[in-house]
Amino acid sequence: MNDADLLSGLTPAQREAVTHVEGPLLILAGPGSGKTRVVTHRIAYLLSQGIPGEHLLGLTFTNKAATEMASRVAALVPGAKVWLGTFHRFAAQFLRRHGRLIGLEANFTIYDKEDAVRGLRRVIAEAGVDLMNYTPDAISAAISWAKNAFIQPHEYSPRDGSPIGSIVQRVYPLYQRWLTLANAVDFDDLLLDTAIILQRAPELRRELDARYRYVMVDEYQDTNLVQYAIARALCIDHPNLAVTGDPDQSIYGWRGANLNNILEFERDFPNVRVVRLEQNYRSTKKILQAAAGLIAHNVKRKRKDLFTLNEAGADVRLVGYRDQTEEAEDIASRIQAALREGRRRARDFAIFYRVNALSREFELAIRRRNIPYQIVNGVEFFQRREIKDVVAYLKFIQNPCDEAAFLRIINTPTRGIGNTTVSQVLEFARTRGWDVWTAISRADAVPGLQSRAVGKLAEFVRLINGLTAMAAGPIEEILGCVLSETGYRDLFRKSSSEEDQERLANVEELLTYARLFDEQHPEPGGLDTFLEEVSLVNDVDAWESDDRVTLMSLHASKGLEFPVVFLTAVEQGILPHERSLKGNDQLEEERRLMFVGMTRAMEELQISFAAMRDFRGQRRLTIPSPFLLELPKDCVQRSGKALDIAGFSDRPIAREAPAGKSPARPVAAPIHPLTTAAALSGATATRAIATDDYAQDMLVAHPRHGVGRIVALSGSGENRKATVDFGGRVGWLKFILAKAGLKPLKRPR
Ligand code: ATP
Ligand code: MG
Repeated sequence: MNDADLLSGLTPAQREAVTHVEGPLLILAGPGSGKTRVVTHRIAYLLSQGIPGEHLLGLTFTNKAATEMASRVAALVPGAKVWLGTFHRFAAQFLRRHGRLIGLEANFTIYDKEDAVRGLRRVIAEAGVDLMNYTPDAISAAISWAKNAFIQPHEYSPRDGSPIGSIVQRVYPLYQRWLTLANAVDFDDLLLDTAIILQRAPELRRELDARYRYVMVDEYQDTNLVQYAIARALCIDHPNLAVTGDPDQSIYGWRGANLNNILEFERDFPNVRVVRLEQNYRSTKKILQAAAGLIAHNVKRKRKDLFTLNEAGADVRLVGYRDQTEEAEDIASRIQAALREGRRRARDFAIFYRVNALSREFELAIRRRNIPYQIVNGVEFFQRREIKDVVAYLKFIQNPCDEAAFLRIINTPTRGIGNTTVSQVLEFARTRGWDVWTAISRADAVPGLQSRAVGKLAEFVRLINGLTAMAAGPIEEILGCVLSETGYRDLFRKSSSEEDQERLANVEELLTYARLFDEQHPEPGGLDTFLEEVSLVNDVDAWESDDRVTLMSLHASKGLEFPVVFLTAVEQGILPHERSLKGNDQLEEERRLMFVGMTRAMEELQISFAAMRDFRGQRRLTIPSPFLLELPKDCVQRSGKALDIAGFSDRPIAREAPAGKSPARPVAAPIHPLTTAAALSGATATRAIATDDYAQDMLVAHPRHGVGRIVALSGSGENRKATVDFGGRVGWLKFILAKAGLKPLKRPR
């Protein structure tokens, strides 16, 4: 492709960014303004200027984003060899080659959250640290926070009087020592160790700086201090760092992302060229206007005006449903209707939610209609027990010091090695300062170990040695051997339980995954690359852009776009998340998250809440999210009576036809207005009243079914009965009022 073609589809501002070659570049722009497109085109442009692909480095947040970028670059410049990938992958590869500089062997293991917390637990137990009321997860999060803030174990000091701080101060060094002995790192170490090496080894840093002359970071607003340190270290002699970011889309503050990085960028590179892109190419005017209206409520932000030449489009829909079943059913039937009428394809739709646990209801509704869908939660597959078990064998073959893998596989499938034996071995290892492999290889020296146990351990060592002999072969073969030699496959095959059949199917899927990997990596010795890939999958990676409806969390939706978006469960406690209700900063981050979700939509956007929701095992009356009140009124069409009463509406309720049903019914079967009004005003249940005082249409609370409306009454006195509509799956239930304990809802004055 020649330059003219490459540049022809760009606005002047985009062209300015794309053709900027030497010197630092900061592209600050709102959603859908072409930042990602600029990065891709800039890579192509640099290549077209004769800069070899080896000199370019593109860092992204998800593997998915990297592959997508790679394919776009490949389409623009076929055969280009550019390193594109996530920070974590870059760091993992860097540490394989240079980790020795800080004592990490090349075959190190990457521990996921679960392994890391399990290790932490052991460390805490062994050292006898009193956690007071903190959970190991909380300690783990605090250590993670420290690592992301570039604080090493010996540098850590608790803030004055912080009880968790003094626990962390004790545990952090022990945890780190445990990792080192296992020749393992956690996710945070990948980045931190890389940054530390780049600081300590100036020669190496210079070499890489010269190699990666042009570094690009997309979604820069979500980098943390350590990531910034890495990017910065690569751009000192050749300060050609180009970053794109939108402060309004920063959604990883809880993971240490630092908005100040953008300010620091301007400080560290004073001669930076700043390019602002103001035209949105993605969304209709109304969607953009609604999103802009919401984000304007954030106090800590720079005002930014976005415009679009796209058409005005339909109003954003704001719908209040009675409960989550109605929400899911209505959304699914809308999708179904659009597919039937041939207006849309399944891939045009996305359903977003704040927490992954909310996906189930939508999944059911969509599956019932035979609509193809995918739930984007790639990590989940690799978190399954059977997959982790089998992968642990590979990890142990690769790195026999890996204590977490050892603990997983030593007696899985069961081979008669009990907990006592394992504890004796670990204790033995510890007193000698050995890793687990050295210890089990000398099991006969373990004090007090019975000869039967010694024999079993020797058998295990033989098994691992046998598997290790194959480690240089194709992954599919190694996996196949693991399954047969360990007896895993037989175990599943013989079992008739459905669960085991599913496990077998999953393990077979892993084999398929390995086969594909082998095809892509024909050179021998791919085990470490394979394990790296498995360890660094993130949730969006599983997302395929084939013809299916996408269900994903708001966080996962970053950077993507869909013609039709349903943003669901916008309720107090969910979005904003209850964790964020404490502070304004967190609340602003939740608002940004909603903003990210809204701005994924190209043509249609529906935002919804349900007045009642089963969540975390409880049926609860919900309170609509305060963010809903912040949406501008003139581009949002509200439906569902609840909204009207709740003060959302200043005009009549829309009565449009629900998908595929008779036009006479409103979209959201109207919730009894008071249900939501009660929820909004914090109505409280009063005591049960005399049976004859219950009246038609009265709102009542039931201890198990939540809030319902009385739709029919019969009899009197002791025999008086009421039929109550609880909505959703519960539907209508009949009660003898004298026994039911139904409490009328009283609205506070
Ligand atoms: P986000 O902040 O959400 O990541 P972004 O700024 O990275 O958004 P892109 O994804 O690069 O935006 O672009 C949004 C959409 O607009 C894409 O479909 C892209 O192809 C299109 N687009 C961007 N610039 C142009 C242009 N100059 N002409 C036509 N389409 C464009
Ligand atoms: Mg982007």
